[in-house]
Amino acid sequence: MRIPAMVNAHSHAFQIELRGVGERAHPDDDFWAWRTEMYRLAGKHDPDAMHAVGKRCYQEMADAGYGAVGEFHYVHHQPDGRPYGERNAMAIALAEAALSVGLEIVLLPAAYHRAGPGVPPSQGQLRFCDPNVETFIERVDELRVWASGREGVHVGVAVHSVRAVPASWIEAVAAYAERHELARHVHACEQRRELAECLDEHGCTPIELLERCGFLGPRASVVHGIHVSESDIALLASSGTIVVACPTTEGNLGDGYQPALAYRDAGVRYALGSDSQVRIDPFEEVRELETGARREGETRYALLAATDGKLWERLVEGGRASLGLTAPAPEIEIGLEGPDMAGIAPDDVPYALATCASASVVLAPVRAR
Ligand SMILES: [Zn+2]
Repeated sequence: MRIPAMVNAHSHAFQIELRGVGERAHPDDDFWAWRTEMYRLAGKHDPDAMHAVGKRCYQEMADAGYGAVGEFHYVHHQPDGRPYGERNAMAIALAEAALSVGLEIVLLPAAYHRAGPGVPPSQGQLRFCDPNVETFIERVDELRVWASGREGVHVGVAVHSVRAVPASWIEAVAAYAERHELARHVHACEQRRELAECLDEHGCTPIELLERCGFLGPRASVVHGIHVSESDIALLASSGTIVVACPTTEGNLGDGYQPALAYRDAGVRYALGSDSQVRIDPFEEVRELETGARREGETRYALLAATDGKLWERLVEGGRASLGLTAPAPEIEIGLEGPDMAGIAPDDVPYALATCASASVVLAPVRAR
């Protein structure tokens, strides 16, 4: 049977190389120790290496049932921070990798400026950073020119996080995105330390800061949105902002989990991302999201029940809205004869897709309608 291809609304392709090596944890290991390892990896890549790892990663995504990817891209420059001759060489390498495997891509170049409030970038962060927001926006403009007329490539824009840029940058990126009707993404509320730093610098939560800077809205996506208050949830709901959950990554990194039932009750739209690529399997992400919500509420009436079995479709719609994709989703062919799905009655298939299936059910990846 055919179902719409899932949208991978949040990816860092190169992080696929952290599989295994990123798991050598010690007792005081946390997200920040993992990040140091990730920086070491990010430091190794040039455009050719980025193209190669992108191709490997995107092929796995297409085979697993994803039909489009939003690449949240921040490894912009040479390791010492100097731009490449072609300032978008790394982003272009990733776009060409996605096209070579037939996966639609939305590049989300991310603004990055500092290690934290008042702290200049560390050595490992130099290649992510721009000296000012005007330089960053100029480069996004150039990338949009490069992408225009190239079928299957789109450009949005991102702010890496509220800790990586000052508020004036968030305002400038939001205004730019609004002016050009671009999808805009930001990592927020993934780790508690980020909340403490934001409170210290701005006197509010990251979601309140994003609202104040004009960043939230129907074209905006907040990636993670884990450590949020009730008023944060109300702001996300009233602004129409999408929350991108990355359940396998968030579990792997020990980030925590979204208050999925509160988001459900507030009517917040959801999308999914494979983020660190610890797993590339949209069926597993859907199941983790649903199972996490059931654990949280100690209930079996979670997201799947609330969508009348249409959780997969709602997440596809959320993902396409998150990436600003307006065309109908392409379809994938799935098989019902393998071990995951054998013996399931046709009426129960939508429920099984969200609870029992894995990427092994995909017989044929994306096919345009
Ligand atoms: Zn991320």
